[in-house]
Amino acid sequence: MEYKIALLRGDGIGPEIVDSAVRVLEKIGERYGHSFRFTPYLIGGCAIDATGKPLPEETVEGCLASDSVLLGAVGGPKWDPQPGHLRPEKALLGIRSALGLFTNLRPAKLYPALRDASPLRADIVEKGFDLMIVRELTGGIYFGERGKREGKYGEEAYDTEAYSRMEIERIGRVAFETARKRNKRLISIDKANVLETSRLWREIMHAMSKEYPDVEYADLLVDNAAMQLVKNPAQFDVVVTSNMFGDILSDEASQITGSIGMLASASLGDTKRGMYEPIHGSAPDIAGKNVANPIATILSAAMMLRYSFDLAEEADCIEQAVDRVLEKGFRTADLLGGREGTPLSCTEMTDRILAEI
Ligand code: NAD
Repeated sequence: MEYKIALLRGDGIGPEIVDSAVRVLEKIGERYGHSFRFTPYLIGGCAIDATGKPLPEETVEGCLASDSVLLGAVGGPKWDPQPGHLRPEKALLGIRSALGLFTNLRPAKLYPALRDASPLRADIVEKGFDLMIVRELTGGIYFGERGKREGKYGEEAYDTEAYSRMEIERIGRVAFETARKRNKRLISIDKANVLETSRLWREIMHAMSKEYPDVEYADLLVDNAAMQLVKNPAQFDVVVTSNMFGDILSDEASQITGSIGMLASASLGDTKRGMYEPIHGSAPDIAGKNVANPIATILSAAMMLRYSFDLAEEADCIEQAVDRVLEKGFRTADLLGGREGTPLSCTEMTDRILAEI
């Protein structure tokens, strides 16, 4: 079968890491008899340089015409002086909204071989963890009414959070279904002791939990969740939460794995077409040096196979290849983090993973 994949390499290390993932997908294609057709489009700073816009129409049209989208990262100091609407990062909100991507899936897994990299205490890390954060991506306070006005104490700024029943139900559905495919445990995180939106969120999640009796369901307040993530991350399987809470908690979850270069993400909507990207940025400090860790992008490609193309065996094959390479002790510089060892380059790490497929 042929799959059309739009490649958004972006800026900084984006091109290096996306090309690594392409090599891995090509190898999977050879091994399992699939054909992946890649078409590159501009996004972010490189798009500003070439067209004056961070998200050219051609890119949006190209992504809409593809079966799935693989993104590297955007941004860098060169474009920092740009006004807000012309910043590379603006393209990310634009492409998510153009593709109707309302769900962000972020796995945070502790690799046994990388235990030393976690900042958590040894007795906590010992238990391991493997959780999935399901974050609502297109609603809530990041998209609510905002502005500046004269208030009780003079000038003030405000942002508002609104969530509709429809938005909560559709993210809830994704979360319960995701829990079903994993260890059947779901924790919904909110701030229902204070926020009206959270009270509606909780009411709807409770009602939905009746439809999924096979999924063990619980609520947790966001402040407690932030503590529990560092105290006992092993208790979590799937977590569902709003846009802003998810933004913050998913970064916390990524930090406790100790390796930003390892973490993948998927953004999904109503169709099978998703957008897959590493959670890290464009790392301008190491761009062009062939030292970036390509694993987060390679694992993002594995998520694409799993969620967009229903190719679970192929996705497992990539994830197991990464596990084996780490077990054998191969590390890029970020994974060594100053410890002894010879770091592999981006292409060498990719070669090692290819050798395991
Ligand atoms: P960053 O994630 O790019 O880098 C943080 C640190 O982690 C750097 O020291 C970097 O070298 C290192 N790092 C990141 N990815 C790595 C990898 N794969 N291998 C090895 N080391 C890696 O975050 P930042 O420095 O805050 O941001 C840099 C630029 O990226 C900014 O312009 C920011 O706006 C942009 N950004 C883009 C995205 C995105 O495209 N989704 C996300 C976050 C930040």
